[in-house]
Amino acid sequence: MVALDIGHTRVIAAIGDSRGNLVASERREMDVDVDSTAALDVAARLISAVSTMAGSPVIAKCVAAFALPIEAESGRVRASVGLSAWDGIAPGDEIFKRTGIPTHVENDALLGALGEIGAGVAAGKRDVLYLKVSHGIGAGLVLGGRPYRGANGLAGDIGHIKVAGRSELCRCGERGCLEATISLTSIADQIAATHHGAEVPFGAHDAIDAVTSRILQDAGRELGAVVAQVANLLNPECVVIGGTMATAHATFFEGIQWAVREYARPTIAARTEVRLAALDGLSTLHGALLIAARTVVAAR
Ligand SMILES: [Zn+2]
Repeated sequence: MVALDIGHTRVIAAIGDSRGNLVASERREMDVDVDSTAALDVAARLISAVSTMAGSPVIAKCVAAFALPIEAESGRVRASVGLSAWDGIAPGDEIFKRTGIPTHVENDALLGALGEIGAGVAAGKRDVLYLKVSHGIGAGLVLGGRPYRGANGLAGDIGHIKVAGRSELCRCGERGCLEATISLTSIADQIAATHHGAEVPFGAHDAIDAVTSRILQDAGRELGAVVAQVANLLNPECVVIGGTMATAHATFFEGIQWAVREYARPTIAARTEVRLAALDGLSTLHGALLIAARTVVAAR
């Protein structure tokens, strides 16, 4: 099985065995958003490299994760102005053309949820909200034990929920989106702006100053306030924070926990576990390998 995780700034390919266990992976940093052809070419080359590494040329199925809205009926990306290089592209067909491997395309956050349910912090849970917080923000929903994709496969676009009192311009062309204020890109910009352009490390155990701490706390609380509203609506058992920001300083995560306790209904908040993803940035790949393994086994 092959899994692809195509984000905004990197492409990762992995090989898994027939039970969905990860065997080998390769990644390449690149600006995925500006050139869809280049990103798909890189994906095909990484698949070839990783299958050579794993010594396993027999590939049954590819499941590809995208951080882009993909319409279920057509399998085509429906992107906004800022992602025009991808609009109308059918990534599954493009990967099949390049590799000859049948490819199924899914939303990356939904695969993240399935990965964490299969082998991470949400093991055995049936109602899970997974948030992928990286350069964009997406939500994956598993409700009553089943993936929830919505009427057209476009569910989970939480990054473009409007935040009251905010007017920052978002790459989607609207103003005041959650993603425009609390994505990795926006937080890094805020830290650079307050530290004379210096890149301040904000890993989980780094020492951070009061200004960086405030930026991370506010971002966590702003995200948590939106999560609280979603929790009121869906009553999830578990909210999992994944993506690059899952490894940021604990102040960010504590901000999310604080706001869920503060703003969700008390009876909901008391029963909602808010956890960090356990699969070390690989939740999506694990979910993709699990789906690939399941569909191949089911077809046999
Ligand atoms: Zn937006």
